[in-house]
Amino acid sequence: MRIAFIGLGNMGGGMAANQAKAGHEVLAFDLSAAALERAAEAGCKPSASVAEAVRDVDAVITMLPAGPHVRQVYGEDVLPNARAGTLLIDCSTIDVESARAVAAQAKEKGFAFADAPVSGGVAAAAAGTLAFMVGCDENDFTGVETALTPMARAVIRAGDHGAGQAAKICNNMVLGASMIAVCEAFALAERLGLAPERFFEIASKSSGQCWSLTSYCPWPGPVEAAPSNRGYEGGFAVAMMLKDLKLAQEAAARAGAATPLGAQAEGLYALFDRLGYGNKDFSAILQLIRGQLAE
Ligand code: NAD
Repeated sequence: MRIAFIGLGNMGGGMAANQAKAGHEVLAFDLSAAALERAAEAGCKPSASVAEAVRDVDAVITMLPAGPHVRQVYGEDVLPNARAGTLLIDCSTIDVESARAVAAQAKEKGFAFADAPVSGGVAAAAAGTLAFMVGCDENDFTGVETALTPMARAVIRAGDHGAGQAAKICNNMVLGASMIAVCEAFALAERLGLAPERFFEIASKSSGQCWSLTSYCPWPGPVEAAPSNRGYEGGFAVAMMLKDLKLAQEAAARAGAATPLGAQAEGLYALFDRLGYGNKDFSAILQLIRGQLAE
C-alpha cells in the first residue's frame, strides 16, 4: 500500500514507523522538521506538504493534536488534493462533532472516512500494540482494519461516524473517575491506619477491583510496571487526561447527558494541571488528594 501519514509527533512518529516496517510506502508530513527527520530515519519518505503527500496514495492516516487541526487539514489540504477512492482515517482524539463534520464533508466528495482514535500511549504506538475504536460505514470497515493492522493489537468497529470518538471519551471518563476513586480510597486507608499494601491486596480481590487499582496502581509498590514506581514520569500525562475529560463534558452538555462524576474528575485534573503537574502521569493525582504535593 501507499500511505500518506500526517502528524508525526509522540504517537504518529511510532505509528508511521510501523507502517514502513510492515513494507508499506509511507509518504510522511509534519509541520515540525525534526519530526519529519525522525520519520525519514524510520523508513518513511518525507513530503513537502500535506497536499503533496496525499496526492497519489491508497490511504491517508492523520494523527493530529485536536479537532481544529483535523478540520483544517482535511478541509484545506486532504479533500481538495486526494484522488477519488482514497481511504481517509483520522486517529486523533477529537470532539464527536468535528469527526462527524469531516466525515460528512468527505462523503460529499465521495471519500470513505473513518474516525479511529486509539487506546494506548506512546509505548504502544512504538510497539504497534494500539487498540483502535472505529466509527465508519459498515462497508468500509474491512479496508480500515487492513490499513490499521500494522499499528494494532485490536481494531474494533464502534459504529457509524463519530462512534469511535464517543467510545474513546466514554472509556477515558471511566478511567479518570476511577483513578480518583482509587486515590481517595488509598488516602482514607492511610488516615485510618490501614497499611496501603494490605488495602491493595484486599481490594484487588474484592468488589473495589478495577484497572486503575490492579494494573496502574497510583500507590507506589504493589504494581511494578505502574508509573507510581518511576516518580510518575512517562505514562499518560495529566494534560492528556484533562483534554479527554473536557471532550467528554462538552459532549455530555451537547447531548444532555448527566455526568456529575465526570465533571468532578475534569475539575480535579484541571486544578492539578494548573498547579504545574500537566506533564506528570495522571495517577500522580494521588499526591494532590493526600495533600502531599512536592515543593
Ligand atoms: P503531538 O503534539 O506529539 O503530535 C502532533 C503532531 O501533529 C505534531 O508533531 C505537530 O507538529 C503535528 N501537526 C500539527 N498540525 C499539523 C498540520 N497542520 N500538518 C501537519 N502536522 C501537524 O501529540 P501526540 O501525543 O502524538 O497526540 C496526537 C493525538 O493522539 C492527539 O489527538 C492525542 O489526544 C491522541 N492520543 C495521545 C496519546 C498519548 O499518550 N500521547 C494517547 C492516546 C491518544
